[in-house]
Amino acid sequence: MHEVSLARALWRQVEAEMSRHAGRRLLAMDVAIGAFSGIEAESLEFALRLLARESDCPDAEVRIRTEPLTMVCTACGREFAPEGFQLACPACGSAETDPIAGTDLRLESLDVETDNAETHSPR
Ligand SMILES: [Zn+2]
Repeated sequence: MHEVSLARALWRQVEAEMSRHAGRRLLAMDVAIGAFSGIEAESLEFALRLLARESDCPDAEVRIRTEPLTMVCTACGREFAPEGFQLACPACGSAETDPIAGTDLRLESLDVETDNAETHSPR
């Protein structure tokens, strides 16, 4: 299962971030899965929940959202969300477009227990 190794890699990011918050508990993690990443959200969520259960923070919530595909036109710079399988630029018609979001997996943020429940970004 591809998602298990992805979940492990993601969890290592969580642990690295949590090591900067010694003694605090992880309350929740937000993960974005690109709509075109080929990653199965349910499998990933399941794997992350298993990893959380084995950790110091077994109650940590796993929140997953799907990130829509976003393209950028290399000719005119227009960013757009392609409709259907139309990947050409809607502004200038160029076929030279590249995905800038929606094709990968990202740890977006962690909710870490604090006095005033602030959110930390891993980046
Ligand atoms: Zn264009």
